[in-house]
Amino acid sequence: MSVPSPLLKSYLSEDALCRWRELIEASRRIVIFGHVSPDGDAMGATLAMYHYLSRLGKRVHVIVPNVFPDFLAWLPGSDAVMVYDHMMEASIRTIKRSDLMICMDFNAVSRLERMADDVANHRAPIIIIDHHLHPDARVDLLVSDPGASSTCEMVFCLLYQLDGMEAFDFDMASCIYCGMMTDTGSFTYNSNRPEVFYIISLLLSCGIDKDLIYRRVYHNFSESRLRLEGYILYEKLDYDALHHTALFTLTRDEMARFDFKKGDTEGIVNLPLQIKGTRLSISLREDPDQGLIRVSLRSVDDFPCNQMAKDFFNGGGHLNASGGSLDMTMDEAVRQVRRAIEAYSDLLSE
Ligand code: 5GP
Ligand code: MN
Repeated sequence: MSVPSPLLKSYLSEDALCRWRELIEASRRIVIFGHVSPDGDAMGATLAMYHYLSRLGKRVHVIVPNVFPDFLAWLPGSDAVMVYDHMMEASIRTIKRSDLMICMDFNAVSRLERMADDVANHRAPIIIIDHHLHPDARVDLLVSDPGASSTCEMVFCLLYQLDGMEAFDFDMASCIYCGMMTDTGSFTYNSNRPEVFYIISLLLSCGIDKDLIYRRVYHNFSESRLRLEGYILYEKLDYDALHHTALFTLTRDEMARFDFKKGDTEGIVNLPLQIKGTRLSISLREDPDQGLIRVSLRSVDDFPCNQMAKDFFNGGGHLNASGGSLDMTMDEAVRQVRRAIEAYSDLLSE
């Protein structure tokens, strides 16, 4: 074990540390899961752990329920990630053969969607590493910190506790930086703690190029993706000045017009927060695969998106970034948003 740093959290108590060692030592075939619609944090955290455990000589697989966006395809190891939707039989076989499962960046097995039953029915031990509130799943070792900027920040602290800076190489540091960057909007929210920047300084000492990582993630648009953003802001944005709330909708037809690729709407819901005084931004998007409306919510200060997502949109998430889904038409979904805004009128209009 390394010398503890006064700036970094030690997530594992002595007992938990023993449990971690037992579980890792007893395992040969480890499967790491990220959540549906994997984001930079889910991909960064699972791949950092993949590199770490592979180096220990384990046979490791990362499985995610559906495809990850193209702007994460540069992440070292991403070419080995199994996408359940694309390789269902191989994924199920890999899950069944595993003797340890690690769930990262989600707190309920339901976030594995179509894959959830395969995981729930397999009796191997489960470790959860996550920064969402109220983890709710069968678990043999839980590492949870809703105060962390990202699961990647937690992975850094956890591996630092285990092996100090020896734990990290360039590839792992790149993965971890990517998750910390994307889950904090490039360190513009949820990243005020000094530890965040201390960790970044240690990652930089591993040789990562943070400017290149930024460009790979955020300057990776197709022309049509940028035009989609322009279209939404110019034609679709509905601003409720009384409630300081922005809403936009996006249908499958509109997506087709802009040659929509998975992940193309990522981040657009944050843009209306640039309007002075905005407290809440909501997007409603028709799911390209299922007959559902996907809901995304972003807020500032202490407006609880996660509570609204739970109360009105069958979802949850973080205080300032949450999501959910509605099984109804777009018109009905817009009415549901209006009801939600009305219910939170006091907090929004003051
Ligand atoms: P996004 O708007 O990017 O899809 O999701 C933002 C955050 O909301 C995610 O990081 C996740 O924490 C949470 N989230 C999104 N969709 C759901 C959902 O259906 N259920 C729950 N519980 N959380 C969600
Ligand atoms: Mn996360």
